[in-house]
Amino acid sequence: MNYHYDPENIFAKILRGEITCTKVYESTHTLAFSDIAPKAPHHVLVIPKGAYVCYDHFARAASDVEIVDYTRAIGTICEQLGIAPGDGGAGYRMISNAGADGVQEVPHLHVHILAGRNIGPMVMMRP
Ligand code: 5GP
Repeated sequence: MNYHYDPENIFAKILRGEITCTKVYESTHTLAFSDIAPKAPHHVLVIPKGAYVCYDHFARAASDVEIVDYTRAIGTICEQLGIAPGDGGAGYRMISNAGADGVQEVPHLHVHILAGRNIGPMVMMRP
């Protein structure tokens, strides 16, 4: 595993408070905020505070404490937004893009939570 983390990426700047965000949730190891260009009525980005490039990097390198904190944060955010099907919510989609084929723009792990309307087909089909 060979990941280089760029500390000048936009989410690192948000974590350092150099750029503002609309915070949705914060815990010891996790921050969630609204996407600046929302693709659905709810579009939340959930990021670990640690320097991880993408999901597999986090899954392999983060501590158990960070991974539990991050996973629980996603549960809490779904509960807070009222979108969890188990609570009578209408559901959501989670997406985490990685690398070139995943078309990841910001090289700091983030999960998108999209909800508030039917999110449509899982991926855009190309010929
Ligand atoms: P990616 O393509 O890397 O999975 O998604 C990056 C996301 O970050 C995009 O949905 C984009 O709108 C969002 N984004 C980029 N810059 C900013 C920013 O400065 N603030 C916030 N809140 N979101 C951003």
